[in-house]
Amino acid sequence: MNPILLSSPHLGSEELRFVHEAFTTNWIAPIGPNVDAFEDEFCATVGAAHAAAVSSGTAALHLALRLAGVGPEDEVFCSTLTFVATANPIAYLGARPVFVDSDRNSWNMNPGLLIDALQYRDRLGKLPKAVLLVHLYGQCADINPILDICDRYEIPLIEDAAEALGATYKGKAPGTFGKMGIYSFNGNKIITTSGGGMLVSEEPTLMEKARFLATQARDPAPHYQHSEIGYNYRLSNVLAGIGRGQLQVLEQRVAARRHNFETYDQALGELPGLVFMPEADFGTSTRWLTCLTIDPEVFGCDRESIRLTLAKHQIESRPVWKPLHLQPVFADAECIGGEVSEQLFQRGLCLPSGSNLTDADLQRVISVIQDMYDQNCQS
Ligand SMILES: *Cc1c(COP(=O)(O)O)cnc(C)c1O
Repeated sequence: MNPILLSSPHLGSEELRFVHEAFTTNWIAPIGPNVDAFEDEFCATVGAAHAAAVSSGTAALHLALRLAGVGPEDEVFCSTLTFVATANPIAYLGARPVFVDSDRNSWNMNPGLLIDALQYRDRLGKLPKAVLLVHLYGQCADINPILDICDRYEIPLIEDAAEALGATYKGKAPGTFGKMGIYSFNGNKIITTSGGGMLVSEEPTLMEKARFLATQARDPAPHYQHSEIGYNYRLSNVLAGIGRGQLQVLEQRVAARRHNFETYDQALGELPGLVFMPEADFGTSTRWLTCLTIDPEVFGCDRESIRLTLAKHQIESRPVWKPLHLQPVFADAECIGGEVSEQLFQRGLCLPSGSNLTDADLQRVISVIQDMYDQNCQS
């Protein structure tokens, strides 16, 4: 039996052509024509004005927070239900995350909780330096009310759209609403460069500064001169070539992932105790990963039993992200609310969701879960 993976890279037909071009023209160094073209083509895809291609989504977040002026002892309000890479760069800068719980509609940051918390902080005169908003599993958060309250208090909004390239919020791409947005091209994301990321903004000066910081902050001088601490974060021209090819198939990749979701939902959505992640009415999700929650009382067994049984059948599934306020490394961080994300973590499972899965693969996953239900989880 071939193993079925959670989300594996899926190359198209054009990537190698761009990579080959990089080789024949000897543009192997970071920076080069593929990088410029990838930035332009990416901007056209998401409707952003300016972009900087970097070595990872995490690097893009690090730069975004730094450009937003986040520094030692500052606070950043941040979605709690997410991958740790969202919040790590807050710590790199010596700042502190304050986590915000999810709502049940979108699984993303609850706008009401954020609004109340910022109003309270305003009265204390202790507003955070930035708000970091995640669009989880391909679904947008409810951006407008969050953007409104950030604008009212002049707090920069940074969007982590690492999982949501190809999604829409009221017809526009997530990542393009806030002051800056980031995307990831890690191997498990909707498109990949094997590793890479993108930072976007409406402000050209911000992206110029991002490129400057991402190339060791070299002052304009013939000798090497530096007045600021920089990073080595630029994307290689070879990998940007892969990204250009991948951009061409983005729509197909989204369609395939949405097809996975629909297939699972049609087959299993009626089983008592299983609830698939809702799609909020303000946008379209990419269904980067198909997620569902399992109520053990009703279904007959819990999330872990399902995960382990799938594993026995060579099928990889994963619990929903463990909320960051429950992570040992952030044990001291404040969290606003928390019960919703905690329950999603306890009950939530991500099913195999790659855009390269076959219908036979999907049926194999479905039949394991259906059999568990039919046999009252006794097998
Ligand atoms: C993958 C991911 C990142 C980090 O991206 P890398 O390219 O792996 O550094 C950040 N945030 C979220 C929500 C992610 O899923």
